[in-house]
Amino acid sequence: MKKAKDILNLTNATWGVIGLAIILVFVAIVLAFTHNNGGGDGIQIADDGSHILTVNVSSGDTLSKLLTDQGFTNAQVLEIADVLKSQASVTSLRADSDKIEFVRDDADAPVSKIVIIPSPWRQIEISSLSDGGWTCETVEIQPDKRAVYRAGEILDGDSFYLAGARASIPEGILAQVYDLLAFEMDFERDVRAGQKFSVLYEENFADGQKVDNGNVLAVQFQALRGDVKMYRFKKSDGKIGYYDENGNGAIKSLKRTPINNARVTSSFSYRRKHPVLGYTRAHKGVDFRASTGTPIPAAGAGRVVARGYNSGHGNYIKLRHNASFETLYAHMSKFAKGVVVGTTVKQGQTIGYVGSTGLSTGPHLHYEIIKDGKHVNPMTVKLPAISNLGSADKEKFIEYRKNLDAGIEHLSQHPDWFIQL
Ligand SMILES: [Zn+2]
Repeated sequence: MKKAKDILNLTNATWGVIGLAIILVFVAIVLAFTHNNGGGDGIQIADDGSHILTVNVSSGDTLSKLLTDQGFTNAQVLEIADVLKSQASVTSLRADSDKIEFVRDDADAPVSKIVIIPSPWRQIEISSLSDGGWTCETVEIQPDKRAVYRAGEILDGDSFYLAGARASIPEGILAQVYDLLAFEMDFERDVRAGQKFSVLYEENFADGQKVDNGNVLAVQFQALRGDVKMYRFKKSDGKIGYYDENGNGAIKSLKRTPINNARVTSSFSYRRKHPVLGYTRAHKGVDFRASTGTPIPAAGAGRVVARGYNSGHGNYIKLRHNASFETLYAHMSKFAKGVVVGTTVKQGQTIGYVGSTGLSTGPHLHYEIIKDGKHVNPMTVKLPAISNLGSADKEKFIEYRKNLDAGIEHLSQHPDWFIQL
């Protein structure tokens, strides 16, 4: 009991007792068949006898048109628009994403309540007042969260994405996993047949129906350097991060591979035959093949210290990240708008676009990491973590991680079970 409570405090989610809360997934299937999804346009009659008309907002619809269609006068439309703006900051409706419900006490009664549904997790309810006016309230809907587990294995000639899809891991979750692991491994060179991986992630349910996926809660990959494990954890100050099994920050200050999914075509080496010059010289960076125009994200937060052109690098940008680390990006076709010397950039912000300027045989990104003025191998250099846990948080993390590992162990034996969060 106590352990489960601890998890509750740490994740701010309603974790049940893990042992009891692992419920067979057919419960979800039964629920799915017993609940009405309220999907397209149509009238439903609620338990209290009120009539609910659901309208999907389509392009060209405006609030005033939809309200007028339901018999509202111009004065009422103006008043409702006013209430929406002042009480819910809503000024427009989005086609294909918003739904509106019009509620009447009975089939012939005027509309007494309007519910705007911009997402499955938020509703804006506009209700009539006894004096004829209107009031509105925003209701946040908490998803019913479940943690599900998927495990996969790399086969011969496989990519991580193929193996992940075969393991039924949704694309958005794979992309999250890729982003997390990109701090630790190189998906081109570190991926081999036989490597196993697993991910624990959230599925969001409303009324027993799955709506979307949430966050990756834990990931494990058998990398060449050893097992890489990361866990999502909320610190006592409310900040959420990913940590390795010992509580060290998993998000590094720099990414080894700035462009996701880009194939390494030439690695760091002190001696390499230069493809254009023909003679042997050091290759002080890593080349990633990518097509011209592919956005180049900053490998870490930093400041632009150089932007220019030289015959070797072509168009290049150099970023300074902290007292020790700099990164350089070469052969760009063009620079991102507004990124000039002195600009502060965030990790992942586009600084330029792949090209083939300078000494280059084809479009690629040439990427260098410079530590204390010396070029280092981006794939092997030890990178500092963005944040580590304080001792109190670390203790809580270890407890949380042990519980989660126990849950994962259960799920690995019963892949169609889930943990109710
Ligand atoms: Zn290069």
